[in-house]
Amino acid sequence: MDKLAARCARKLAGALAMHELGVVIEIQKRVAEAAAENGIELRDVAAVVVEIGEASCVVPRYLQNCWPAATDGTEMAGAELKIELIKAEVRCNACGRVYEYLACGRRCPDCGAPECRMVRGQETNVKEILVR
Ligand SMILES: [Zn+2]
Repeated sequence: MDKLAARCARKLAGALAMHELGVVIEIQKRVAEAAAENGIELRDVAAVVVEIGEASCVVPRYLQNCWPAATDGTEMAGAELKIELIKAEVRCNACGRVYEYLACGRRCPDCGAPECRMVRGQETNVKEILVR
């Protein structure tokens, strides 16, 4: 890798990490809201289960890396982040078949058409909050 490419790669990694940090902060907000609604103290949160769609542009590894720093010094410090991946699924525009986009090579396994609409896999959901 030459110097320029190395610098660009570093910049890109930085930008991605910033994006994931934003996602972590959003997750913390949603957890805080859900905890308040359910009368849960944030310091009693043992783990947060988050669903990440494989087409959501969120990199689970970066999210996992951001989590300890983002929760450090907050009431949620020590809470674990558990990530569940959701497969990207699409519906074929030609025949209506729903299929796993990446596993099927980006083409409908029934009719071979590439045109489709995303039905699942772009979400970032807080699925569950586990309490100590
Ligand atoms: Zn089809």
